Amino acid sequence: MSRPIKVRRIACCPEANYFKPRGIPVVELEEVILSTDELEAVRLADLDGLYQEKAAGNMKISRQTFGNIIRSAHKKIADALVNGKALRIEGGVVAIDERRFSCQGCNFEWTLPFGTGRPTGCPQCRSRSIFRVLKGKKQSA
Ligand SMILES: [Zn+2]
Repeated sequence: MSRPIKVRRIACCPEANYFKPRGIPVVELEEVILSTDELEAVRLADLDGLYQEKAAGNMKISRQTFGNIIRSAHKKIADALVNGKALRIEGGVVAIDERRFSCQGCNFEWTLPFGTGRPTGCPQCRSRSIFRVLKGKKQSA
Protein backbone atom coordinates (compact mmCIF):
# COMPACT_ATOMS: atom_id res chain seq x y z
CA MET A 1 0.00 0.00 0.00
CA SER A 2 1.29 3.42 -0.83
CA ARG A 3 1.76 6.05 1.79
CA PRO A 4 -1.03 8.63 1.98
CA ILE A 5 0.10 11.87 0.40
CA LYS A 6 0.22 14.71 2.85
CA VAL A 7 -1.45 17.88 1.73
CA ARG A 8 1.09 20.61 1.18
CA ARG A 9 0.11 24.10 2.11
CA ILE A 10 0.83 26.89 -0.33
CA ALA A 11 0.27 30.58 0.07
CA CYS A 12 0.17 31.76 -3.49
CA CYS A 13 -1.28 30.97 -6.79
CA PRO A 14 0.91 31.18 -9.86
CA GLU A 15 0.24 34.21 -12.04
CA ALA A 16 0.81 32.24 -15.23
CA ASN A 17 0.65 28.50 -15.74
CA TYR A 18 2.30 27.96 -19.11
CA PHE A 19 5.71 29.02 -20.38
CA LYS A 20 6.99 28.16 -23.82
CA PRO A 21 10.03 28.96 -25.92
CA ARG A 22 9.28 31.63 -28.48
CA GLY A 23 8.84 30.60 -32.09
CA ILE A 24 8.17 26.91 -31.65
CA PRO A 25 4.65 25.65 -32.37
CA VAL A 26 3.02 24.03 -29.35
CA VAL A 27 2.48 20.77 -31.23
CA GLU A 28 6.25 20.38 -31.69
CA LEU A 29 7.05 21.17 -28.10
CA GLU A 30 7.83 18.72 -25.38
CA GLU A 31 6.21 19.64 -22.11
CA VAL A 32 7.51 19.53 -18.58
CA ILE A 33 4.85 19.53 -15.88
CA LEU A 34 5.78 21.43 -12.76
CA SER A 35 3.36 20.80 -9.92
CA THR A 36 2.03 23.67 -7.83
CA ASP A 37 3.85 22.45 -4.74
CA GLU A 38 7.11 22.32 -6.68
CA LEU A 39 6.58 25.91 -7.76
CA GLU A 40 5.85 26.89 -4.17
CA ALA A 41 9.07 25.21 -3.02
CA VAL A 42 11.01 27.20 -5.63
CA ARG A 43 9.29 30.39 -4.53
CA LEU A 44 10.13 29.85 -0.87
CA ALA A 45 13.70 28.60 -1.27
CA ASP A 46 14.96 30.39 -4.36
CA LEU A 47 12.94 33.59 -4.53
CA ASP A 48 12.34 34.32 -0.86
CA GLY A 49 15.67 32.72 0.09
CA LEU A 50 14.30 30.72 3.02
CA TYR A 51 16.34 27.93 4.54
CA GLN A 52 14.89 24.53 3.65
CA GLU A 53 13.97 23.94 7.28
CA LYS A 54 11.82 27.09 7.38
CA ALA A 55 10.39 26.57 3.90
CA ALA A 56 9.41 23.00 4.81
CA GLY A 57 7.68 24.33 7.92
CA ASN A 58 5.73 26.84 5.82
CA MET A 59 4.50 24.02 3.61
CA LYS A 60 3.85 21.79 6.63
CA ILE A 61 6.06 19.00 5.31
CA SER A 62 9.31 17.41 6.49
CA ARG A 63 12.65 18.88 5.48
CA GLN A 64 13.43 15.69 3.60
CA THR A 65 10.19 15.89 1.61
CA PHE A 66 10.91 19.53 0.87
CA GLY A 67 14.37 18.55 -0.35
CA ASN A 68 12.87 15.99 -2.71
CA ILE A 69 10.34 18.49 -4.05
CA ILE A 70 12.87 21.26 -4.66
CA ARG A 71 15.32 18.84 -6.31
CA SER A 72 12.61 17.63 -8.64
CA ALA A 73 11.55 21.23 -9.37
CA HIS A 74 15.11 22.34 -10.18
CA LYS A 75 15.58 19.40 -12.51
CA LYS A 76 12.35 20.10 -14.39
CA ILE A 77 13.08 23.82 -14.75
CA ALA A 78 16.62 23.07 -15.94
CA ASP A 79 15.27 20.52 -18.41
CA ALA A 80 12.82 23.08 -19.83
CA LEU A 81 15.42 25.86 -20.10
CA VAL A 82 18.30 23.79 -21.40
CA ASN A 83 16.33 21.59 -23.79
CA GLY A 84 13.84 24.21 -24.95
CA LYS A 85 10.72 22.56 -23.56
CA ALA A 86 7.47 24.12 -22.51
CA LEU A 87 6.74 24.36 -18.82
CA ARG A 88 3.21 23.75 -17.58
CA ILE A 89 2.31 24.42 -13.96
CA GLU A 90 -0.54 22.37 -12.64
CA GLY A 91 -1.71 19.81 -10.15
CA GLY A 92 0.07 18.84 -6.99
CA VAL A 93 -1.46 18.09 -3.64
CA VAL A 94 -2.00 21.50 -2.21
CA ALA A 95 -4.22 23.36 0.17
CA ILE A 96 -4.52 26.99 -0.71
CA ASP A 97 -4.65 29.36 2.20
CA GLU A 98 -7.88 31.19 2.69
CA ARG A 99 -8.30 34.92 2.49
CA ARG A 100 -9.78 36.56 5.54
CA PHE A 101 -11.90 39.67 5.38
CA SER A 102 -13.15 42.02 8.04
CA CYS A 103 -15.98 44.55 7.98
CA GLN A 104 -15.35 48.04 9.29
CA GLY A 105 -19.03 48.60 9.90
CA CYS A 106 -19.92 45.67 12.16
CA ASN A 107 -16.51 43.97 12.75
CA PHE A 108 -17.80 40.76 11.19
CA GLU A 109 -14.98 38.52 9.92
CA TRP A 110 -15.20 35.80 7.30
CA THR A 111 -12.96 33.77 5.02
CA LEU A 112 -13.01 32.95 1.35
CA PRO A 113 -10.78 30.62 -0.64
CA PHE A 114 -8.38 32.12 -3.16
CA GLY A 115 -9.60 32.54 -6.69
CA THR A 116 -13.19 33.40 -5.86
CA GLY A 117 -12.88 37.12 -6.45
CA ARG A 118 -13.05 39.99 -4.03
CA PRO A 119 -16.31 40.21 -2.06
CA THR A 120 -18.34 43.32 -2.86
CA GLY A 121 -19.57 43.87 0.66
CA CYS A 122 -20.04 42.52 4.15
CA PRO A 123 -22.29 39.43 4.15
CA GLN A 124 -23.65 40.53 7.55
CA CYS A 125 -24.50 44.23 7.18
CA ARG A 126 -23.80 44.78 3.46
CA SER A 127 -21.35 47.57 4.23
CA ARG A 128 -18.82 48.11 1.47
CA SER A 129 -16.10 49.15 3.94
CA ILE A 130 -14.37 45.81 4.06
CA PHE A 131 -10.74 44.99 4.59
CA ARG A 132 -8.48 42.08 3.83
CA VAL A 133 -6.99 40.71 7.07
CA LEU A 134 -3.37 39.66 6.70
CA LYS A 135 -1.39 38.11 9.54
CA GLY A 136 -3.54 39.81 12.14
CA LYS A 137 -3.22 43.23 10.51
CA LYS A 138 -5.93 44.97 8.58
CA GLN A 139 -5.13 46.08 5.05
CA SER A 140 -7.20 47.81 2.46
CA ALA A 141 -8.50 45.12 0.13
ZN1 LIG B 1 -20.55 44.37 8.32
